[in-house]
Amino acid sequence: MRENVVIVGAGQAGGELATGLRQRGFSGSITLVGDEDHPPYQRPPLSKGFLMGKIPQEGLYLKPHETYGRFDITLRLRTRVESIDRASKHAVLSDGSRLPYDKLALATGGHARRLSLPGIDVGRLENVFSLRSIADVESLRGAFVPGRRLVIIGGGYVGLEIAAVAAQLGLNVTLLEAAPRLLARVTGPEVSAFIEGVHRSHGVQFRLSAEVRGFSLDASQRQAVGVDISCQGVQERIDADLVLVGIGLVPNTGLASAAGLAVDNGIVVDEFACTADPSILAIGDCANQPSAYTGGRIRLESVPNAIEHARVAASTILGQREPSTATPWFWSEQYDLKLQMVGLSSGYERCITRGDPSSKAFSAFYLKGSRILAADVIGRPADFMAAKRLVTGRTPVEPERLADEGIPLAKVAA
Ligand code: FAD
Repeated sequence: MRENVVIVGAGQAGGELATGLRQRGFSGSITLVGDEDHPPYQRPPLSKGFLMGKIPQEGLYLKPHETYGRFDITLRLRTRVESIDRASKHAVLSDGSRLPYDKLALATGGHARRLSLPGIDVGRLENVFSLRSIADVESLRGAFVPGRRLVIIGGGYVGLEIAAVAAQLGLNVTLLEAAPRLLARVTGPEVSAFIEGVHRSHGVQFRLSAEVRGFSLDASQRQAVGVDISCQGVQERIDADLVLVGIGLVPNTGLASAAGLAVDNGIVVDEFACTADPSILAIGDCANQPSAYTGGRIRLESVPNAIEHARVAASTILGQREPSTATPWFWSEQYDLKLQMVGLSSGYERCITRGDPSSKAFSAFYLKGSRILAADVIGRPADFMAAKRLVTGRTPVEPERLADEGIPLAKVAA
């Protein structure tokens, strides 16, 4: 009997798992079920080149549509998995059909966190957007008109990337951030200040420590015309033609919890991407997994993680059980800057910068004792490769040598 693998979610992780299984010789049937209109695609360009109009839609696809046929992968798009019948091992689809599975992989990603404001149904406002999918970009694009006033709520990477695109397209951008500095959860004050300066030089305005209190609406109550904030005790209304809410992602865990599987900031899986039900795996943004890097549990939202987790799941399905040893890393692009981040800086004791931020090419290392927990590398790809090795290898370094550009990074090990 051919083994049946059903993958729920045709995104980065689901797409990688389907094609990865075939490339590694899996001969059973593979069905990839996705509720969007598109075959698996890369999301990073959505807030960068695709929003800018520089990358065509086909340029986003992980594989050309025909590849799935050639790989004997059944792609069922515009179809939701509504529930999982664990007793009979079936996935129940939105078209009423039931798909039998031997292994079911949940690769359901997440949805944009919604802004909750008393008395306002934010989801019904026509000029308030979020950005997670091709469809979101399509609805946003028409509103991206030079001269319009865009208010972005949320100063994380996605919000900042959208600010960069909008500023370059000639919109007037104001970005609101609840924390006292940008990217406060993921980076140090030195890098926050650098990023803020770069955006300001492109005309982006900021309100930091800003609490969104409400929206001012037009007479029809369907458009926001202003965002009402309280900023360090001062009440202010920021006039807006359009608003982008970028306040993070909520993992899609409903299917798993309804099926009785453990959920705790993501679907709980072991190091082999398995839930407590050995027939059901979970991967990518939706999964909370053990991390060899932190020694604890972690839920990551990044392409490298989706690819790595899909590889782990493919091994599990093939009976080869290979846990991940990967160190988390991520990248972002804003204007002409490429930022690469490796490791997680939480708990660092001091930050050492190497290079001059004003040259727009420098690195920030986050140290605990003599070990580098994490690094932010801006415009120095060679440093990134070396930093990745130092973070991954937990190599003790001589901190003084890190700042000295005369010493190659590879030689700063103690
Ligand atoms: P997704 O790619 O979100 O795929 C999940 C899919 O499952 C979706 O298509 C969803 O609609 C579908 N689905 C959910 N429930 C069901 C169901 N019940 N039935 C059927 N289908 C379902 N990462 C980086 O590393 N670098 C970047 O620069 C970067 N930039 C980003 C920019 C943007 C705008 C966004 C949104 C993300 C960015 N990311 C970036 C994050 C990265 O894209 C994600 O981490 C990655 O896509 C996660 O892959 P995934 O397969 O877990 O989830």
